[in-house]
Amino acid sequence: MSVSAVPATGTLYVVATPIGNLDDISARALRVLGEVSLIAAEDTRHSLRLLQHFGIATPLAACHEHNERDQGGRFLARLQAGEDVALISDAGTPLISDPGFHLVGAARAAGVRVVPVPGACALIAALSAAGLPSDRFAFEGFLPAKSVGRRARLEQVREDARTLIYYEAPHRLLESLADMRDVFGGERLAVLGRELTKTFETLQGLPLAELHDWVASDSNQQRGECVILVAGWRAPEGDDALSAEALRVLDLLLGEMPVKRAAALAAEITGVRKNLLYQAALDRQKSS
Ligand code: SAM
Repeated sequence: MSVSAVPATGTLYVVATPIGNLDDISARALRVLGEVSLIAAEDTRHSLRLLQHFGIATPLAACHEHNERDQGGRFLARLQAGEDVALISDAGTPLISDPGFHLVGAARAAGVRVVPVPGACALIAALSAAGLPSDRFAFEGFLPAKSVGRRARLEQVREDARTLIYYEAPHRLLESLADMRDVFGGERLAVLGRELTKTFETLQGLPLAELHDWVASDSNQQRGECVILVAGWRAPEGDDALSAEALRVLDLLLGEMPVKRAAALAAEITGVRKNLLYQAALDRQKSS
């Protein structure tokens, strides 16, 4: 028996598709989609329209969040038999708030080559045109649907210096902007990227309080797909520079010891300057 009787495994291509404008599909994506044996798609009916538009007749099979774990084995078997498979989602880059994580993980664990075919991604498109710092950013995905959970998640990154990026459904846009305004402060700059690459594309940058009111006053802004970008936290100057954590430590110590000692110990624990903490401790005593 020759060595070639053992089939080499195929390749799993993770292919980005457009987020609106069909011209955004890459030449490489079209070639790969036309050449693979099978396309694993989030919604086969949706993707069929895209493939028909480009004259691609490759068979499709469903790979969505409800069947991904169960059906993963089926795709893996085809890959292990030497066939190439492409993974696509309804729009943009698979795995980015879209299915594919389990399949890619299983393929890599099985030693199958996984190749990205990059292209459109709403968060990157929004960030590239928002004018907010892009050297460091945090993609926070979708926020919880209920306000309590949403506010708790926002609180976790209130003092994060990176640009924050959220996906949001249009019917929750206003509520989310209101919670962001309340947690991050109405002055914090934010940018709404709506219907990117489509006819009614909007990129509006305003402080959160104004952005909320602007969206509230125009129902057109409450439709379509949207990304919200929020400028990262910046430490205020002067006495206000104390973080909530430094003040929490200071308050705990003030309950146990004299002002001077509490300020010195809080400085050691938090790394904040002693003078600043001492002044804050005096202010707190005056106002209590
Ligand atoms: N995988 C996609 C990507 O690469 O961006 C994201 C899929 S996620 C299920 C869909 C969300 O992405 C939408 O609710 C919206 O927040 C955002 N999105 C997708 N297309 C968009 C567009 N054209 N303009 C603005 N946001 C978009």
